[in-house]
Amino acid sequence: MTSQEVRTQFLNFFKGKGHKIVPSAPMVMKDDPTLMFTNAGMNQFKEFFLGNTVPKNKRVTDTQKCLRVSGKHNDLEEVGKDTYHHTMFEMLGNWSFGDYFKKEAIQWAWELLTDIYQIDKESLYVSVFEGSDDADNLEMDKEAYDLWNAIVPKERIIMGNKKDNFWEMGDQGPCGPCSEIHVDLRSKEEKAKTPGASLVNQDHPLVVEIWNLVFIQYNRKADGSLENLPEKHVDTGMGFERLCMVLQGVKSNYDTDVFTPLIREIEIITGHKYGKDEQTDIAIRVVADHIRAVSFSIADGQLPSNTGAGYVIRRILRRAIRYGFTFLDTKQPFIYRLVKVLGETMGKAFPELREQYQLIENVVKEEESSFLSTLEQGLVLLESVIKSSKSKTIDGEKAFELYDTFGFPIDLTSLILEEKGYQLDSKGFEKALKAQKDRSRAASEVSKEDWTTLMEDSEQEFIGYDSLEASAKIVKYRKVTSKKGGQQYQLVFNLTPFYAEGGGQVGDKGYLETPNGDVIYIVDTKRENNEIVHFSENLPKNVSDTFKVVVDKKQRWRTASNHTATHLLHQALREVLGNHVEQKGSAVHSKYLRFDFSHFSKLTVEELREVENFVNARIEGQLPLEENRNISMKDAMEQGAIALFGEKYGDTVRTIRFGQSVELCGGTHVKNTADIWHFKIVSEGAVAAGIRRIEAITSDAVKEFYFKNNRMLFEIKDLLNNAQDPVKAVSSLQDENATLKKQIEQLLKDKAKGLKTELVGEMEEINGIQFLAKKVDLDAAGLKDLSFEIGGQVSNLFLLLGAEKDGKALLSCYISKELASNSGLNAGTIVRELGKHIQGGGGGQPFFATAGGKNPAGIDDALAGAKEIVRSTTIT
Ligand code: ATP
Ligand code: MG
Repeated sequence: MTSQEVRTQFLNFFKGKGHKIVPSAPMVMKDDPTLMFTNAGMNQFKEFFLGNTVPKNKRVTDTQKCLRVSGKHNDLEEVGKDTYHHTMFEMLGNWSFGDYFKKEAIQWAWELLTDIYQIDKESLYVSVFEGSDDADNLEMDKEAYDLWNAIVPKERIIMGNKKDNFWEMGDQGPCGPCSEIHVDLRSKEEKAKTPGASLVNQDHPLVVEIWNLVFIQYNRKADGSLENLPEKHVDTGMGFERLCMVLQGVKSNYDTDVFTPLIREIEIITGHKYGKDEQTDIAIRVVADHIRAVSFSIADGQLPSNTGAGYVIRRILRRAIRYGFTFLDTKQPFIYRLVKVLGETMGKAFPELREQYQLIENVVKEEESSFLSTLEQGLVLLESVIKSSKSKTIDGEKAFELYDTFGFPIDLTSLILEEKGYQLDSKGFEKALKAQKDRSRAASEVSKEDWTTLMEDSEQEFIGYDSLEASAKIVKYRKVTSKKGGQQYQLVFNLTPFYAEGGGQVGDKGYLETPNGDVIYIVDTKRENNEIVHFSENLPKNVSDTFKVVVDKKQRWRTASNHTATHLLHQALREVLGNHVEQKGSAVHSKYLRFDFSHFSKLTVEELREVENFVNARIEGQLPLEENRNISMKDAMEQGAIALFGEKYGDTVRTIRFGQSVELCGGTHVKNTADIWHFKIVSEGAVAAGIRRIEAITSDAVKEFYFKNNRMLFEIKDLLNNAQDPVKAVSSLQDENATLKKQIEQLLKDKAKGLKTELVGEMEEINGIQFLAKKVDLDAAGLKDLSFEIGGQVSNLFLLLGAEKDGKALLSCYISKELASNSGLNAGTIVRELGKHIQGGGGGQPFFATAGGKNPAGIDDALAGAKEIVRSTTIT
């Protein structure tokens, strides 16, 4: 059975049981402060379990792109080393939101695995929660046990502890017991020797968990206690690649058709065969796995970068590059060449891979080239660290510097050191690493108090599209303290006009007014678990009052202007550059807007002007906002709205139209494009291969911009003695400047000529050597030129020149080549020796060398020292 069929059968099976097939949510989280990447199928349904949102469908099924490389679930270091953990994998799932429960979940899972997929019943084991005698004092999951026991013999039911069989989303929130299904893929002989039951959950590569059925029935409260939920839910997750391994009769996920095309391609590119050598195999698995994680996240709009989620992606890709570099001998970019194969194998289920193939390939290639050159540079640096090391153990601090500043991987450092018979002071490295981590943690860590709830089960309504003020009550609040000591409060209101940061747009600012007129500023607004959280510096004295909450009108207007202008800019770019332009990121602030998009070359001045004119024509056209808050996705697409990759949309969406520009958007906009006043691009540049960035301003920021420019112009005119035409005046100044430069050059040349004649005249002969030591007024380049000029004219020359430049001392020593070889005099040795007088050092070749030092007062001694040297020299 092909992997395609495995996937389709799963979804169709649950569709047959009344489930709605929904698309995978993006793998990269956009507006969730608690999570960078989707790490389980349930993430996108979190709100339903928490009761913040009511689901439209009580039964859904999907395949979810997951990434487990950070936070609570981090499998990164295992990946490649074993054969069944990936960074990015698909999780097949079926959900019941307050609908069916254990009975159906268990029966259907069994039916699907044994009837539809025809997995041998004898090879399956199931686990049941055994209960706990800790503070929770939970009973064993008897219900699940009985249900399983009706279909599976006792010997294959395993009792599991809280760690394996009681699932919790976090410290608080929905939770419940779970039942895992494991499969034993060992040979008959092996099975006869060791019973499979004893290998479940023991990290055996052939006895692995494939499916986890979670029965959500409790809520973990802030005080640590559990309460029964009014509604019970089912949340299941099955590893797609592991299922394919079972159904395709192979012993490793990497031997399924999900991976074999990638592995074949790696073999072809690198010339290394898979399955011959363990270390090579690990490297091949790492590369085959990581290209998936990286490609999917770029397709979701997350490019490799230096911070946050982008940095995690960069590190994954670098891990692959490093394994290739070290074990597959790849010194040139090659991973990007897998993007095409990936698109061919997975593009049907995930069209974003095909549609963005070119972009993904470019970005990966550029990352590879730049990291490979870092590696090469790092190798050179490491070489010099080794050379200058007095002992066979390399300082941990030094290795850390290499790691921290140049991104040179520490395991590579150890490996190279080992090869050269050195070792790494890993304790010192760990210490430096920890110190750095502590520093950044101290800067960012926050502690959050529990929420204090004032109004149970209160609805929270957002009215900020229509009004900027409301009369509101606090539903709940908590205090947040950063480790730096800063304190803030987070407030949730029953009614709010404040827009929470999201869709690239910043959160609203404003204030809250108490009944007796006190004002408390609201400094930011963010969304957490679908609740709008307001950040304030203080808490009102009487938290149960009704408050007037007011959005800062001016800031909102500026932000809205920038948001609407962003839509017009998007339209303009597609119009001017072509339909290949896709939005790749957007930041709408009150002061400016930033827009990233795919396009392969720098925009010309004409293109930029055309884009600007296009937008301004629409501003002048006074296009009214046409907003549709509740339109079906289908209708929106028919109207020409563009859905973005990596965004999660519901069945109904909000559309924002200004003239021909239609976008799916949840942001705030001006009522009419005329409100924007004017649009001005302030910069255009590259963000990554094939991605350009435009920054622009609107409304009063443009006014400010022109005002500043105008003032600058006046200042320039002023400097130019009120020239009528400052451009002409500057241009003639430049001409004048060029003429003066030429004259100075000529003068300097003449001076050098004069100096040369003068110096040649001052030569004295000592021991048959033409000797001169003298202080002159030249820079380092001048000393060199002059030395070579004189050297070309005078034979048997020993010339030592000294100079003082910017408070520093310079020496240069020139010795005619034949003299150097006849006398054993060596300019390099001499400047090093004489350099001591000027408290410096230097070096060079036997016939010419220079030194620099910080003591100009010692120049005369150096000159005198030269004479001594020549006096005691004999020519052979
Ligand atoms: P394991 O103990 O094998 O790491 P888990 O307990 O972390 O699994 P769950 O969090 O219950 O797994 O996830 C549900 C299913 O997702 C698992 O049964 C497994 O099939 C699959 N899965 C989990 N982690 C990975 C991974 N890193 N790569 C591929 N599949 C995975
Ligand atoms: Mg795990």
